[in-house]
Formats: sequence, structure tokens, C-alpha cells
Amino acid sequence: MEHIARNIANIEQVIRRHKRDDGRVDIIGVTKYSDVATTEAIVTAGITHLGENKTKDMQLKYEALKHMPITWHFIGTLQTRKVKEIIEFVDYIHSVDRVKLAEEISKRATRPIQCFIQVNVSGEETKQGVAPEQLIEFVQNIQSLPNINVVGLMTMAPNTENEQTIRQVFHTLKQLQEAVATLHLPNAPCEMCSMGMSGDYPIAVEEGAAWVRIGSALVAE
Ligand SMILES: *Cc1c(COP(=O)(O)O)cnc(C)c1O
Repeated sequence: MEHIARNIANIEQVIRRHKRDDGRVDIIGVTKYSDVATTEAIVTAGITHLGENKTKDMQLKYEALKHMPITWHFIGTLQTRKVKEIIEFVDYIHSVDRVKLAEEISKRATRPIQCFIQVNVSGEETKQGVAPEQLIEFVQNIQSLPNINVVGLMTMAPNTENEQTIRQVFHTLKQLQEAVATLHLPNAPCEMCSMGMSGDYPIAVEEGAAWVRIGSALVAE
């Protein structure tokens, strides 16, 4: 599994080259393509923040790797009825986009959960997320829930080769994040952007990402 350590070193170097002077960027290792052994190798190589997009897979890996110092991020579409499957051990949820979902998270949790609001910046119909023009109202609607702490915003760039289009989406998310932060809501510091995947993270980092979610580039041979 030496290629994993090599990939991480590469990604870290790219991040250093592209990041803003004042910025801090952390990698979430997305393990949805990786089995338990590969996931363990990723953690051993130094990536301790892991992301999964299916509750069952996350549960399985959590159980198998309980002995390791892992912080778990849920990054995919989350069905309300599945919140209970991960709530005991999940640390961050990147896909909060419905009041009902936020209510269920808050009700089931026994401690505050770090939440990102997923925003559909590109407006594609196939994409999940709150519409940008409804974002502030949405944050206000959920921010009195006791176990919801809105730490930031998350988005996925459109599937396109056009770098300008991708950059515009990340740039807009950063502006929205700063707008919510300015409200100084007690349970919504909203200081971070979760944006950028294997194909577009250098652009996301330039536009101010605090978390990049990297899957395929981590395990590429
Ligand atoms: C799969 C996935 C990623 C990682 O994708 P790669 O292109 O493999 O890096 C990031 N975020 C979300 C929400 C994903 O589902």
C-alpha cells in the first residue's frame, strides 16, 4: 500500500502550492471505494478524517476500525430514517439540506453534531442542497436546534471540464459562507467551506476550501 503514502504526499504538496497564505486545509479521505484493509492503510498513512456516503458502509468500517483514531464525516445524501444508524459515532455531517433532517439529527444526538449545510450552487436539478437564495432562511430555521452546530457550507462542483464554471461555484460558496458567518448566529459560526474532490481540489483550495474530500486520488495506483 505504498502508493497511498505517495498519493498523500502528492496531494499535500498540491494543497501547499495552491492554498491561501492565511488558510488551513484538511483532507477528508473518502473511503467509499476502499475495503476495510485499504481504509486502515489510509489511516496508518496519516489521514484520520474519513468520509463515507452510505450509512451501512460507514457503520461497518466504524466497527472494524474502532481501535484507530478516526474522525467520521458523513458526506452523502442522508435519508432521515437512516440518521440513527450513524449518529452515535459520526462527528461531521456535510449534507444537511432539509429541516426535517436537521430535526432528526438534533433529536437523536446526545451531543452537538458539526454540520455543513449542503448548497446547490450550480442549480443542477440532479444535485442535492439548499438553493442559495434560501440559505439564510434555512440556517435561521435550524439554528435553534440544540444539537446542530453549523460549522460551514458544502457543495459539489458540476461535472464539467470548464474550469471557470467550477471556480465560479466554489467562489460563490465561499461568499455565501462568509455571509452566514457575518450573521453571528449562536449555533452557526459557519467558518468553513467543504469543497473540492480529486478532480477539482486545487481550484477549491485557491477559492478558500477548509476541507477537501478526496477519494480516487488517494488510492490511485
Ligand atoms: C465520492 C465523493 C467524493 C470523493 O470523490 P473523488 O472524485 O473520488 O475524490 C467527495 N465528495 C462526495 C460527496 C462524494 O460522494
